[in-house]
Amino acid sequence: MGESDIFAGLASVLPPERILGSEAARRVYAHDAYTVDRSAPDVIVLPETTEEAQSVIRWCLAHQVPFTPRGAGTGLSGGAMAAKGGVILSTKRLNRILQIDIPNRRLHAQAGVANLKLSQAVAAEGFHFAPDPSSQSVSTLGGNIAENSGGPHTLKYGVTAPHILAMTWIDNAGEVRTWGTGVEGGPGPDLLSVLVGSEGTLGFVTEAWVKLTPLPARVETLLASFPSVVAATETVAEIIAAGVIPAALEMMDRNILVAVQAAFGLEVPAGTEAMLLVECDGSPAAAQAEIEEVYAICQRFGAIELKLAANEAERKHLWTARKKGVGAMGRLAPTVVTHDGVIPRSKLPEMLTFVYEVAEAERLGVANIFHAGDGNLHPCFYFDDREPGVVERVVRAGERILTKCIELGGSVSGEHGIGVEKVDFMPLMFSEADLALQGDVKRMFPISEFANPCKVLPNLKGCVEHQRRWRGAAH
Ligand SMILES: Cc1cc2nc3c(=O)[nH]c(=O)nc-3n(C[C@H](O)[C@H](O)[C@H](O)COP(=O)(O)OP(=O)(O)OC[C@H]3O[C@@H](n4cnc5c(N)ncnc54)[C@H](O)[C@@H]3O)c2cc1C
Repeated sequence: MGESDIFAGLASVLPPERILGSEAARRVYAHDAYTVDRSAPDVIVLPETTEEAQSVIRWCLAHQVPFTPRGAGTGLSGGAMAAKGGVILSTKRLNRILQIDIPNRRLHAQAGVANLKLSQAVAAEGFHFAPDPSSQSVSTLGGNIAENSGGPHTLKYGVTAPHILAMTWIDNAGEVRTWGTGVEGGPGPDLLSVLVGSEGTLGFVTEAWVKLTPLPARVETLLASFPSVVAATETVAEIIAAGVIPAALEMMDRNILVAVQAAFGLEVPAGTEAMLLVECDGSPAAAQAEIEEVYAICQRFGAIELKLAANEAERKHLWTARKKGVGAMGRLAPTVVTHDGVIPRSKLPEMLTFVYEVAEAERLGVANIFHAGDGNLHPCFYFDDREPGVVERVVRAGERILTKCIELGGSVSGEHGIGVEKVDFMPLMFSEADLALQGDVKRMFPISEFANPCKVLPNLKGCVEHQRRWRGAAH
């Protein structure tokens, strides 16, 4: 079915002003933040309610048109890309907080609400939504649920899954379901943990009830500068080995510091090759004791300078530099591809040395800004994608790094998901039997080859051509 037929067909279930089909819109929605792979949708739809989204999905299923859920498009593995064209089902207009229930410490919101808005809505009451991806000022609740996103404070507070109490979602047969306890329509089967992290392949989330976490009584934030990456990474391993679990333990290397210094005026002492941003929180006594121990460990491992945030404004400044660090990389080159892998913390020094070697061999710039406390690496390659052959080198560099993560006993994804980017890596991590079992789990839910096709599991029907394209043939 052509674009104009899809547009006309959907105009029967949604007001036409909430269907976008211009060339410009199709180009904007052709990729998410994983920019090396692109595939334009035929149209983009903007439902405002669960019922409207259900009508769109039912129409797509009836007319065999592929549909792909999308939040803010900050995903880094191509999950929100319309791999086989068709409809992008955007949550842009599903943007309302529906209920704040402080006595029961929960909040009910539509899926398109930005993560940070959830916390801002309850800050005055002394609460927040704990998962805090660095993209939180724009990334959505639905996207966070689909990717089971983490963030700097995941080290202490966990990823998204334990913070989701219930969800309303539309399955791939077009039925609305509400799963979770204490909500109308619930509880449904105890399978929320399968839905969270399924990358939008099992259904479209329209609303969720999230857990509210009390704000800590005291927060201490320390910025530690080190003369080498090895000294900084060894410090990370030692902090955890000493039994301290900071709320956050983040690392930035020299190249990212160049960008954040220019963008946010972060002071970087001479001779700094890496910085750690460490946050301890809890009761005043506990936060104080933990930060003192971290301080002493940093000194033992040769920190050049240790700076404690003196007040909330200083703390916010440090976190702006960290959370907007990847954005600041626009100062280094026009294109950035952020990889995501996990390794045991003790292997950080070896892994980072390998990352720098790969970048040099592939003639790419690389900066590292990542959740060091979780061993969750984010090598960010920066380059100009107009240069012939550079995208292939970036993809190859990513493959080498992820292969090394597996060799070192880690994983190909910490938090950015599999999407289309890492489909080919699944057989490296999982046996055939394990992959078959994951396919069986998916088949417990209504399945449709038109629902977010070509994502997560390898060898899905009709996706071979797309995967060949991803391998570089089309660049
Ligand atoms: C600068 C930057 C920093 C980042 N930092 C982090 C970080 O610290 N931690 C982290 O985990 N990630 C991080 N990310 C990755 C990304 O922000 C997260 O994966 C985020 O949760 C995606 O949310 P989104 O709304 O942008 O989703 P999108 O990118 O629009 O979609 C992501 C996936 O979710 C699916 N989806 C979206 N909405 C729904 C829905 N309502 N129902 C079903 N499926 C849906 C899509 O189909 C797609 O597969 C970062 C990205 C950037 C660009």
